[in-house]
Amino acid sequence: GAAHDWWRDGAIRALDAALQEKGGRLHVLRGKAEDLVPALAKVCKASAVHWNRRYDPAGRAIDTAIKTQLKSHGTEAHSFPGALLHEPWTIRTQADKPFQTGRQVFEKHGSRARKQPTNISRFFAEDTLRGYSEERDYPAAEACSRLSPYLRFGHVTPAQLWHTAMQADASAQNKDKFLAELGWREFAWSILFELADVATRSLRPEFDELPWRADPKGLKAWQSGRTGYPLVDAGMRELWHTGWMHNRIRMVVASFLVKHLLLDWRKGERWFADTLVDHDPAATR
Ligand SMILES: Cc1cc2nc3c(=O)[nH]c(=O)nc-3n(C[C@H](O)[C@H](O)[C@H](O)COP(=O)(O)OP(=O)(O)OC[C@H]3O[C@@H](n4cnc5c(N)ncnc54)[C@H](O)[C@@H]3O)c2cc1C
Repeated sequence: GAAHDWWRDGAIRALDAALQEKGGRLHVLRGKAEDLVPALAKVCKASAVHWNRRYDPAGRAIDTAIKTQLKSHGTEAHSFPGALLHEPWTIRTQADKPFQTGRQVFEKHGSRARKQPTNISRFFAEDTLRGYSEERDYPAAEACSRLSPYLRFGHVTPAQLWHTAMQADASAQNKDKFLAELGWREFAWSILFELADVATRSLRPEFDELPWRADPKGLKAWQSGRTGYPLVDAGMRELWHTGWMHNRIRMVVASFLVKHLLLDWRKGERWFADTLVDHDPAATR
């Protein structure tokens, strides 16, 4: 979406500036990754290519195509699980079933985060986690981390955040709450991995039979924050102006769209995809 592209553009410029400070520069190529990466590897005579793998259906298809191309040219291809704490297919209960909540993921898999910490202390200024467990769920409190776009675009990995949080000078309660939120992120990706068509179908099949209303005016009012319901409108206007919205308000506006306006959730999903700077195909569903 547009907001997501805007954030990515800023992230690329920031990375380029950081590289230039060290005497390097970033080369940005536009086109299909499955064509460009193998072609670039050939030109550079690279013996190996390394990247963090993706887990959404489209991303997986691209990763597979890149690997196949590289290998056919004799270039080694290595992808790594940097975007998540755990590979989605390992997120299962003892009975080998998918989990039902993010907290369960955190409780079962939490302590097995792999990577070593690096310096991301700017995300954890001294008192960042203060009040997190009591206030994270209150939109007016501004207690949540606002790390979602940084995670989305790989400025930080969840493993870095995990270790930084573990080492932070914060109460066990605040740490637990923050780490459990990372558990929800893992949970969302495991669901998308498990049920690839959750992108277009309802999680519960019976909901696909719901007779959604057609109401372009209602949809427009929702999108532009003019429904007349102050909490919904405040959230939708915040989204439009900043590209971000608090978790609880995302729930409120999504619920309002589906249960009050009776509009198809896919219409809301498309709007979120265009306007959220942190939009990812797993968490939105
Ligand atoms: C309808 C709806 C749409 C959403 N769409 C997105 C989206 O496109 N991208 C996105 O990153 N999150 C999405 N979320 C999840 C959540 O609302 C945001 O991750 C969170 O509000 C971001 O703010 P924060 O970084 O301050 O999070 P915090 O509350 O501080 O949480 C820390 C991190 O944990 C993860 N996290 C927290 N809650 C969730 C959750 N419910 N599901 C998955 N991960 C979570 C995020 O990576 C977040 O940055 C959505 C939630 C709902 C209800």
